[in-house]
Amino acid sequence: MPSALITGITGQDGSYLAEYLLSQGYEVHGLVRGQANPKRPLVEALLPDVDVVEGDLLDQASLISVVQSCQPDEVYNLGAISFIPISWKQAELTAETTGLGVLRMLEAIRLVTGASKSRPGGGAGIKFYQASSSEMFGKVRESPQSESTPFYPRSPYGVAKVYGHYITMNYRESYDLFACSGILFNHESPRRGLDFVTRKLSLGAARIKLGTQAELLMGNLESKRDWGYAPDYVRAMHLMLQQEEPDDFVIGTGENHTGREFAELAFKHVGLNCDDYIKTDERFMRPAEVDHLLADASKAREKLGWEPSVDFQELVSIMVDADLQAEAKAG
Ligand code: NAP
Repeated sequence: MPSALITGITGQDGSYLAEYLLSQGYEVHGLVRGQANPKRPLVEALLPDVDVVEGDLLDQASLISVVQSCQPDEVYNLGAISFIPISWKQAELTAETTGLGVLRMLEAIRLVTGASKSRPGGGAGIKFYQASSSEMFGKVRESPQSESTPFYPRSPYGVAKVYGHYITMNYRESYDLFACSGILFNHESPRRGLDFVTRKLSLGAARIKLGTQAELLMGNLESKRDWGYAPDYVRAMHLMLQQEEPDDFVIGTGENHTGREFAELAFKHVGLNCDDYIKTDERFMRPAEVDHLLADASKAREKLGWEPSVDFQELVSIMVDADLQAEAKAG
């Protein structure tokens, strides 16, 4: 039975990836950090077949110990400080977790496998996936963005992801590790964190419809993002590690929309007009904005045979319906 270790198991992608790998016959280990992490019971309830292991991307020894004991065939590094506005407030923690955390996980794999150029097969024993991000393109140099588009990150999060991306490439080249980065554009779902713009909008529309909220305070809704559906994106992560050679891939839909378009659709879905309820709040504006992201995922389509299955309008409906249902159930 193949086995996988996932960091970030308590997050959106970690849960979908775990479900997908379990459905493919994997044994799945999920890394949870911290003492009495409140999300641990949620993971254990949602994913009872996942073996929860303790460790932290800030703690090198814990990662070595986890890799040693789980002996995974594949490691998916999804753990990160991932909420971009927080990355300005906690820039050092973001660099440590989202950037240096990648190095620590690569080092754990190198030390446990003894990976080296001089060893036949290098570090082929454990394959590694790094969760790179379209935020690395930031102030875009060209459009759409592909694997060869130069990076220009616009947040401490984006800068840390660029480090994670290049150190993954460097370990692949230095130690023959089977290490890949997926440069994933925004992907959403009903499991998206409550602070993220799409989830704030879907939940806000649901609550306003149900009469439990009066208005919705938002930041900039004019930036364009290439928004896809998270379960489609975890399939791409797995596909990358099943190729003959390690490589990096852009994953996105090739279509972009503003936050305002998301808001209009979400409120329309519940029979309301978003302009009657949404107010702009300067507190939610980023110090440096990313205006326009659009994926050119042609390499993934050709080499991985990957395609998204859910379009923008469907994504908005899925999220609003899930929030309506959950809010109605919660009373
Ligand atoms: P998420 O829901 O915010 O999950 C982040 C995960 O990282 C959580 O499980 C969190 O654990 C964990 N984490 C934070 N600090 C950690 C530490 N010190 N040690 C171990 N784990 C730690 O993020 P997501 O949306 O699933 O995204 C998964 C990955 O893809 C992230 O790296 C993100 O940056 C990247 N990405 C996401 C998107 C997107 O649109 N979703 C796009 C491109 C790239 P706690 O619950 O304990 O805090």
